[in-house]
Amino acid sequence: MAGMKWVWDELKALDENKRLIPIKTLDGPQGPKVKIGSKQYLNMCSNNYLGLANHPDVRQAAIDAIKKYGVGAGAVRSIAGTMSIHEELEKKVAAFKHMPSSVVYQGGLLANIAAIPVLVGKEDLIFSEELNHASIIDGVRLSSAKRVVYKHLDMDDLRKQLSAHRSEGKKAMIISDGVFSMDGDITPLPEMVKLGEEFDAMTYVDDAHGEGVLGDHGRGIVDHFHLAGKVDIEMGTFSKAIGAMGGFVAGSQDLMALMKQKSRPFLFSSALDPAEVGAVMKSIEIMEKDDSLLKKLWHNSSLLKSELSKIGFSTGNSKTPITPVMIGKEKDTLDLSRLLYEEHSVFASPIVYPTVAQGTSRIRLMPSALHSENDIMMTVEAFEKAGRKLNLI
Ligand SMILES: *Cc1c(COP(=O)(O)O)cnc(C)c1O
Repeated sequence: MAGMKWVWDELKALDENKRLIPIKTLDGPQGPKVKIGSKQYLNMCSNNYLGLANHPDVRQAAIDAIKKYGVGAGAVRSIAGTMSIHEELEKKVAAFKHMPSSVVYQGGLLANIAAIPVLVGKEDLIFSEELNHASIIDGVRLSSAKRVVYKHLDMDDLRKQLSAHRSEGKKAMIISDGVFSMDGDITPLPEMVKLGEEFDAMTYVDDAHGEGVLGDHGRGIVDHFHLAGKVDIEMGTFSKAIGAMGGFVAGSQDLMALMKQKSRPFLFSSALDPAEVGAVMKSIEIMEKDDSLLKKLWHNSSLLKSELSKIGFSTGNSKTPITPVMIGKEKDTLDLSRLLYEEHSVFASPIVYPTVAQGTSRIRLMPSALHSENDIMMTVEAFEKAGRKLNLI
């Protein structure tokens, strides 16, 4: 055990700087209410937007897939792990996204890490939005491409960076989250696509928080902006609105064929398990057939935002159900979250530095289609009482 003291030192430093992330354990499924210990809490922080994570038909589809295919895929995709359901799912995802083809991976993070290094290498350039998700940042690092960061939502800055640097790389790619997870704002994709065309750069959008939320029947950000066929690469996750686990990359037939030859999580990590594949296919079927869950999600989200604003809280620049209740100071944010949890049984996580910039601490609320109006109003009432107690409103 020599040489291991640093672990304790690091944990202690995190604790002293109030950066130790407390982890709560749920004693049951995800849902509008969750059980933690022996108590029920109103759950305002999962990404289970449409409530599909515990939908009876989705559960059943996972069980049926296990009955037919077992629990493990048994190998990496390129050796013996590709089952007919993986190919069925890839067709389904492509059709749902109105893209020519797709490849599925074991997670959204892995999909980014898989795809980016196939698309760009050390002689190439990547223009990356400053608030991009960690998995994009990791994918960019693994690619060895030169990274140029442009300002949040700022297409003038993107143009400036492209003008200044485009000639320094062979290939180039512009990459951005579609919906930003901490603010709920949306990237101006039509302008990004135009700049891509003008400067001969590929465009890549991470639609993790757009799927199931934006566009017709939740097809995502490309559909929301009517840009079908204009964005070169779409990446997404099955772990948020779709309610299960896994991720995908979608694009041209040729590009997807290349992903299957070159992307490392495809070649060196075993295939997504059958239960997940079955569950995801059912979730997509539900989304395609019926958009009542989507409508309920947006209804809940606008109710939540308008009621919070009536009592004096700001929800920032959010254009989606992601509802950041802006507080500012870190201590106030942590105190508010604790009061909500302890005195009002509302589970709502604080988001503080380094996840967001210093001085912009917030509580991020994630309404879902399964919350009742009463759940939303109880949340607002809890914010009102706890906010008054802490002199925040
Ligand atoms: C959640 C998220 C991911 C990762 O997806 P997982 O399937 O949970 O690995 C990637 N990108 C963005 C923008 C996300 O919000």
